[in-house]
Amino acid sequence: MQIGILALQGAFAEHAAMLRQLGASCFEIRQKRDLDQPMDGLIVPGGESTVIGKLLKELDCFDLVQERIQNGLPVFGTCAGLILLAKEAEGGHVQLGTMDISARRNAYGRQLGSFATTAEMKGVGKIPMVFIRAPYITAVSGTAEVLAEVDGKIVAAKQGNQLVTAFHPELTQDTRVHAYFLHMVEEAAKKNA
Ligand code: GLN
Repeated sequence: MQIGILALQGAFAEHAAMLRQLGASCFEIRQKRDLDQPMDGLIVPGGESTVIGKLLKELDCFDLVQERIQNGLPVFGTCAGLILLAKEAEGGHVQLGTMDISARRNAYGRQLGSFATTAEMKGVGKIPMVFIRAPYITAVSGTAEVLAEVDGKIVAAKQGNQLVTAFHPELTQDTRVHAYFLHMVEEAAKKNA
């Protein structure tokens, strides 16, 4: 199983460390030719969604990544990754737009948007959640389902092979969200076998 991690900007190294802890192989995607490698799943990390979106376009990776996700490549977006995958994002600029969710950027305010809490995530359990200038999900539609809420705001969702969290599991010691994603990747691989 090979997981590609979009490594254009932001918190990508932490995802790699977490996947390695779980015994999964991963590689960094820094340019178009990195997308030629076999890839069973993709992580779109946190960072600045506007910068990651712009770089995806500049490096001519945008359409390819969008198409792969639309064709069922399992993807896990954290924070800025969530914004990029959302069909609509208030305050967003470039959307891959593959997931039927609406997001609000910097939804907790620019300065006060960083906090940690513990909450239940469906299918995962009670986990630590670290928010950094985080978005939240204002609406889900279609087959998208809510996996976690904090203070009445949606902070995790899933639709088919797509998983998003407004928080950063890669910045905690808890590997369960990544394990959950790896399970999604395994299930998708079985279906394609
Ligand atoms: N505020 C960032 C954005 O709008 C997201 C922050 C993060 O990924 N930690 O893209």
